[in-house]
Amino acid sequence: MKLDSKIYVAGHRGLVGSAIVRNLQKNGYTNLVFRTSQELDLTKAGQVSAFFQKERPDYVFLAAAKVGGIVANNDYPADFIRDNLMIQTNVIDTAYQNNVKKLLFLGSTCIYPRLATQPMREDSLLTGELEPTNEPYAIAKIAGIKMCQSYNRQYGTDFISIMPTNLYGPNDNFDLTSSHVLPALIRKFHEAKMNHITTVEVWGTGAPKREFLYSDDLADAAVYLMNTYSGNDLVNIGMGKDISIKELAEKIGETVGYQGEIVFNTSKPDGAPRKLVDVSRLKSLGWEAGISLDDGLELAYKWFLEHVEKNTT
Ligand code: GDP
Repeated sequence: MKLDSKIYVAGHRGLVGSAIVRNLQKNGYTNLVFRTSQELDLTKAGQVSAFFQKERPDYVFLAAAKVGGIVANNDYPADFIRDNLMIQTNVIDTAYQNNVKKLLFLGSTCIYPRLATQPMREDSLLTGELEPTNEPYAIAKIAGIKMCQSYNRQYGTDFISIMPTNLYGPNDNFDLTSSHVLPALIRKFHEAKMNHITTVEVWGTGAPKREFLYSDDLADAAVYLMNTYSGNDLVNIGMGKDISIKELAEKIGETVGYQGEIVFNTSKPDGAPRKLVDVSRLKSLGWEAGISLDDGLELAYKWFLEHVEKNTT
C-alpha cells in the first residue's frame, strides 16, 4: 500500500476495524474511507455496489462482521450465519467487480475443528467437526475463506485471509449477555468491586483454555500482511500462549482490584476445550505479537473505565 492509496476499512467502529484505522493513521496512511452501518448496510448488495463505484478503494480490510460470545452465538445462530454470509459475500464480490488491488478477510480460529490438535495449524481446517456452540458463525467464516481462495484461482484476485485468536481492546463489546469472556469479566469484577459484592459468577467450569491477543497487535499484523503477504494459505494470528478461564478470571480480578470470591456456574456452556493457535507461519513471515496479556489487561481496563463505566454510572 502507498501512503496515499485509497483504503476502505469495513467495520471501522468495531474492535478490529478501529484498531486497523489507528494503525494505518499512525503509519501515515492518509486516504482512508469508511461508513457507519447506518450510512451503508453491508447486507444490501445494491448499497455495497454503489459505495464501491463511488469511492473506488484500492485496498479493503474486511473487518465488518456480526460477532458475539458463546451464549449469543448459541441463542441467535440464524443471525450469525445470515449476516456474516451476506456481508462478506457482498464485500468480496463487489471488491472483485471493482478491481480492488487487494483484500484482507478476517476469519476466526473457531473455523478449526473442535478437537483439532493443539496448537491448531492452518492445515487443520476441514479435518473434523466444529464446536457446536458457534458452528453457524464458523461455517460463514469458512465460506469467506473459500470465497477468497476461489476468486484468486478463477479471477486472479489478491484476496488473503487471516485467522485471529480471541481479541480484546478498545471498542470491545462489554454487554454481559452478548460479549466474549474477557470484556465480560472486566465488567463483572469491576461492578462487584464498586458495589461491594463478594462473589463474581464465571460461566462454565473455568477449565477451558483460551488465547487472547490485544487488538492493536492484531491490527499491526493485518497491515503488515497486507503489505508483505499474498497467497491462498490462511495465516493464524495469535500470541502462541493460552491460559485457563479460571486463571484469566484471577488475573482480571487482580487487575481490577477485586477482593471477593469467584464462583463457577456450570449450567453455562464451556464451549471448545482449548483454542491455541500455531503461529509458526506468522513468525516465518516475520511478525510476532508485542503486547503481553498483563499489559493488555491494564490497557483494556483503563479503556473500560474511561469509555464504558463513565457512561453507564
Ligand atoms: P468462545 O471462545 O467462543 O467459547 O467464547 P467466549 O469468549 O464467550 O467464552 C469463552 C469461555 O469463557 C467459555 O468457556 C465461557 O463459558 C467462559 N466464560 C466464563 N464467564 C463468562 C462470561 O461472563 N461471558 C462469556 N462470554 N464467557 C464466559
